[in-house]
Amino acid sequence: MKKDAILICTGCGKEFPLNRIHPRCAGCNEPLEVAYGRLAPVEIPARGTMLERYGDFLPFSVPRREISLGEGNTPLLRAGALAEELGMLSLFFKNETQNPTWSFKDRGTVTGLMHAVSLGITKIGTVSTGNMAVSVAAYGARAGLETYVLVSKGIAEEKIAPIAIHGPRLLTVDGDYGELYFRSIEVGERRGIYFINSDVPFRVEGSKTIAFEICEQLAFQAPAYVVVPTSSGGNFRGIQKGFEEMHRVGAIDRLPRMIAAQAAGCAPIATAFGRGGLTVERVKEPRTIAHAIENPFPPSGNQVLRKLREHGGLAVTVTDEEILAAQGLMAGTGIFGQPEGAVPLAAVKKLRAENVLEPADSVVCIVSGAGLKYMAALRLHRFEVRGVSIERLEEALVG
Ligand SMILES: *Cc1c(COP(=O)(O)O)cnc(C)c1O
Ligand SMILES: [Zn+2]
Repeated sequence: MKKDAILICTGCGKEFPLNRIHPRCAGCNEPLEVAYGRLAPVEIPARGTMLERYGDFLPFSVPRREISLGEGNTPLLRAGALAEELGMLSLFFKNETQNPTWSFKDRGTVTGLMHAVSLGITKIGTVSTGNMAVSVAAYGARAGLETYVLVSKGIAEEKIAPIAIHGPRLLTVDGDYGELYFRSIEVGERRGIYFINSDVPFRVEGSKTIAFEICEQLAFQAPAYVVVPTSSGGNFRGIQKGFEEMHRVGAIDRLPRMIAAQAAGCAPIATAFGRGGLTVERVKEPRTIAHAIENPFPPSGNQVLRKLREHGGLAVTVTDEEILAAQGLMAGTGIFGQPEGAVPLAAVKKLRAENVLEPADSVVCIVSGAGLKYMAALRLHRFEVRGVSIERLEEALVG
């Protein structure tokens, strides 16, 4: 690993060596992040894997092509007609559904795995019931590592199979799921298993490449706003950090304002933000169809609050109804996201109606995962399908 990078506490600034697996501060228990001594303005190579192209912004000496599944390099799509409908000049979708396992999680999985491999660790794991579990299982299989996936007891078969197909050691755990995040890391440290959980520092390093790509795709004109569906806060932190690093090397001349979008039924960050709080409080009974953003006590919640305050960000909530409507609206532009992936568009609609977003503001929505991930949500839509006999086909087509 590179010499001039360290881990630093996002809460108190305490420093730790880069070879630390534990993702949190020994003093204040806030999450750590990678800090770089020197970041030189560089030419980003046009070709190569995500790890190769952004190697100068990552702490690894040698990017390993053999562990990549082709993550990143996702399209930024302009929504022309929809923007017009919403009374906006420019609205974009960063389509993370095109990652190898159909969510942005692959970016952080590959950087987390790189960290594990560079420390000589051969066992990895994660705690997840959804996209992260699938992602870690797939990359673990690709790299030939022993991979442990911990899911909560009672998880639906529909969710188990896409994880199990990759052949990880799959454990359903009976007990408090929030507690499992911390317990897995402790036990993992003792047993040499690197748990690449939702907001660990090296997962955040992968997420920041979303910001790098947006900068490149907008010819280094930062958008006014970036809207992120937020749960643990790991992805939000990564994207924020990516823009800060692009700003630091002089590639962009301003930071976009970040918007943390949450489901109304589980909004610990937006609630704390709304009452001017400095720390998140546990949501007692989380309830939303957007399960991937249903973390009742986000481990990076306080850091997201600090960043929102530091840089003039916003936090908003949207209802399940608004999320489903946005899922349909976005599909009408050709992009089929899972409900969580439509949360940013739902937030944009709401903030535009309230005129918080003004017509000239350019806005990027992070479409975090693919629609086929969650078939149950589709049953909540009302689709119109007509039947016709082959003899009456022509009538039906023109009628
Ligand atoms: C994990 C996930 C999120 C939430 O990301 P965090 O880093 O936990 O805030 C949002 N959408 C999708 C599709 C996800 O898989
Ligand atoms: Zn600390």
